[in-house]
Amino acid sequence: MIHSIINESERTYDIPTDNRMTDCHNTIISLSTTDWEQRITAALREHHIRLTQPRRAIIHWIACQPHVFSTEALAAALAPPPTRVSRATAYRMVDYLREQGWLTRIRTERGLYAYARTLPGHYHHAICRRCGATLLIDGCAILDELNVVLARHGFRVQHHLLELTGLCWRCQAYKQ
Ligand SMILES: [Zn+2]
Ligand SMILES: [Zn+2]
Repeated sequence: MIHSIINESERTYDIPTDNRMTDCHNTIISLSTTDWEQRITAALREHHIRLTQPRRAIIHWIACQPHVFSTEALAAALAPPPTRVSRATAYRMVDYLREQGWLTRIRTERGLYAYARTLPGHYHHAICRRCGATLLIDGCAILDELNVVLARHGFRVQHHLLELTGLCWRCQAYKQ
């Protein structure tokens, strides 16, 4: 099953969040950044975390980014009025979102650290290093072969994380 997070500006078609399209072997869900924002808002409510104005501004700013971003850029963008988000709040919120699985930190093409939007849960992410568009592959069958090879060497896998970075088809088309 593959989910994709696309930027709102790049949305080519609209499907409800829970509407799954089956394409041969994979089920594909296309999530817009609006969906990402709405899911976080719902999750915070569920965890009884107050959606203060600064937190709302941070989440919205992240949802609107057409590129991977740094916490520094977020803090600088939201410091002036009307948002007036303090640096401490910006950094704490990014840490929180990362801990909860709503963001992941990747290395950009220039070797800098930046954040990209993800969804919590056990997924294997394929993230565009330029725009942050993310594909989420649900299920671990892709690792079966590797597990068999390792088992032959007497190794039993108990836990895995798999994160891939590269360029999405749009960013490949806009090569500099
Ligand atoms: Zn891209
Ligand atoms: Zn897995």
